[in-house]
Amino acid sequence: MSKLDEFLAGERHDDVALFLTHEYLDSQGKLPNLGEEVENGYVLVVPGDDGRRAFAAGTGMDAMEFSRTAMAEKGHIDRELGGGECPDHDSDENHQAEFIFSFSEEQNEEVGGLYARGDVVHAYAHCACGANYSDKWVIGEETETGVQPGESEPAEADE
Ligand SMILES: [Zn+2]
Repeated sequence: MSKLDEFLAGERHDDVALFLTHEYLDSQGKLPNLGEEVENGYVLVVPGDDGRRAFAAGTGMDAMEFSRTAMAEKGHIDRELGGGECPDHDSDENHQAEFIFSFSEEQNEEVGGLYARGDVVHAYAHCACGANYSDKWVIGEETETGVQPGESEPAEADE
């Protein structure tokens, strides 16, 4: 099982996952190509503090600040963190997700809602057009929770 598989299965709550496109990684040139190759780029799975440092070095942004900004918009993010669907995709621009920051949280019945259903993956994406957006889903319910492809609201909002 790869680190990314373990992360996506909720076995690496202390790690963060960073997705970066090949182009973005090359243009920044500050991050080693240590990640796992996915369809459109690389995913690095690293301990939280290292990940936040790598994120800042690679993007010039603070990971937490970026997450807060991205939380304001919802959009589908690939369940394997290889890309996303920009909420502004109707405009005539490049809408490839350039980077994604993700972490997981252990099931928490006290918080309720999504968090009571299982471990949750949070994902925050930055689009080439400048938009930031976020998604989150329950591990094991990837197609029943969070924003589904072609949708703009989380599936559980209808329940
Ligand atoms: Zn976009």
